[in-house]
Amino acid sequence: MFYESTRGSLNKLTGAQAVIRGISEDRGLYVPEIIPKLPFRPEDMVGKTYREIALEVLLAFFDDFKREDMEYCVNGAYDEKFTASDVCEINYADGAHFLELYHGKTAAFKDMALSILPYLLTISLRMEGITDKVLILTATSGDTGKAALEGFADVPGTGIIVFYPDGGVSQLQRAQMVTQEGENVKVYAVKGNFDDCQTMVKKIFNDEAIRAELREKNVIFSSANSINIGRLVPQVAYYVYSYVKLIERGVIRAGDPINVAVPTGNFGNILAAYFAHLMGIPVNKFIVASNENKVLTDFLNTGLYDIRPETRDFRLTNSPSMDILVSSNLERLLYLLSGRDSVLVNDWMNSLEMLKFYTVMDSDPLQEGLKRFYAGFATEEETLRTIGEMWDRNHYLMDTHTAVCKKVYDDYVRETGDHIPTVICSTASAYKFPKAVGDAIGCEGAEDGFDALRKLNKRTGVSVPCGLRDLDKRKVRHSEVISIEEMEEKVRA
Ligand SMILES: *Cc1c(COP(=O)(O)O)cnc(C)c1O
Repeated sequence: MFYESTRGSLNKLTGAQAVIRGISEDRGLYVPEIIPKLPFRPEDMVGKTYREIALEVLLAFFDDFKREDMEYCVNGAYDEKFTASDVCEINYADGAHFLELYHGKTAAFKDMALSILPYLLTISLRMEGITDKVLILTATSGDTGKAALEGFADVPGTGIIVFYPDGGVSQLQRAQMVTQEGENVKVYAVKGNFDDCQTMVKKIFNDEAIRAELREKNVIFSSANSINIGRLVPQVAYYVYSYVKLIERGVIRAGDPINVAVPTGNFGNILAAYFAHLMGIPVNKFIVASNENKVLTDFLNTGLYDIRPETRDFRLTNSPSMDILVSSNLERLLYLLSGRDSVLVNDWMNSLEMLKFYTVMDSDPLQEGLKRFYAGFATEEETLRTIGEMWDRNHYLMDTHTAVCKKVYDDYVRETGDHIPTVICSTASAYKFPKAVGDAIGCEGAEDGFDALRKLNKRTGVSVPCGLRDLDKRKVRHSEVISIEEMEEKVRA
């Protein structure tokens, strides 16, 4: 299995090489040359564990890995760090199957991929005979940062720098990152938004001068963002797993279609669902949910991807991990749906960079494929109302991102009358956003996020994830706030 760039440069990489490289030299993203078919029939996996299913899915994409090496990765990543019965949990509430992906160390779904990425990277380096030190550059809208820090802290041969938007993450998310321990970690708040951080990280990544400077010190870059294929592939596993579990529970029969609904930011998670579909999981609709930064909703409904400041303002919302205008992984979808037309992809991406918009025409070959995607959004108020109603009626506690998704799913059902069993990705613990969630279920008067967390816990009795307990008592180790321009300097340093 080889990996190729969405921008069409000719060199093809093995899985291990693509994981190490992160983003292609032509600034494109790596995709598998062929999406592999499932190496089993889902009904034959009934009764299997998360690890067993993930192992097969990962090996299908990374056939350059030895089975025993991949077993080592999977077993090391998906161990008792995850507090759910089987890494994740699927709970039925109010007409949908909530795939809870937030039972890892940092209480967000990013743990699903970032707990295994350091293993994949370490093995890849060994396979390639690379002895250089790897510097992981990470831009975060709140959750990737902490999950990557936990994954890479004190991993020999690696260092990690995380950039997060100053004022653009929840107080709890910030506290998780700035208290990070480890000899090889750095965390900076950047005076800008997530898009600024991500754009600059991509730029530094492909800056020949910096790369050369690092090479002299035997250091190479890699990425922990979902531009890295090593982030994406582990996420495919939980969609396959969900399908197997729905068969196991008698919700569906093998071959029946399901819908998948995902709160979407950088488009990585929903793209992983699409990969699962291409592997052979029958998916009827991909439901893409946005918050008030609804670029994707508009794009999927009109064909115009538009981030011009005169037509769209960037908003800070109560679902900050989705406060993103440039959804990187959409590029991979456009590439696949256009029949791997890298000329078209280049046109669109160059237009986005220079003019801040692009349009896909009715005549473009990807239109047919886009029909499988339904898109909608939730306002701030709708998000809170959805959390409140769900708690009142079902005693099921959702975080703000999951609530955005639930609201859009409800719209979808109302509009279409489609009642096919649906998996809703539940992407974070409500305790990462305790102020908003507290407001939503009527526990008012919290002084700050930490106080809100305690009040929310008292009110609901839902247990607080380990990683979020006593965060206010931990030592702050990373308090520097820098400008966008200073990011480069920090990397050099
Ligand atoms: C990262 C994140 C998202 C968005 O996921 P993408 O893969 O970037 O689309 C949604 N919810 C939460 C809680 C997140 O941390």
